[in-house]
Amino acid sequence: MPAYDVQCPYCHAPQHTEHPGGYAPVYVNCPACEKRFILEPVASGVKTYRLNEAPCCSDPDCRATEMGDSGND
Ligand SMILES: [Zn+2]
Repeated sequence: MPAYDVQCPYCHAPQHTEHPGGYAPVYVNCPACEKRFILEPVASGVKTYRLNEAPCCSDPDCRATEMGDSGND
């Protein structure tokens, strides 16, 4: 499982976050400011987004909706 060192886009606290692999965006909860942001692996490294700044293709919930993903439990 890959892991990424990123900064929280809200408070800039360093985060070490595991990712399930591939290029799917995931939500990360920042323990410093208790906000949630998006981590998305890209070819050149990794991007982070505030929730209200992420394009739909980088938002896990939006992607699930758009793709009709049947990933419900
Ligand atoms: Zn934070």
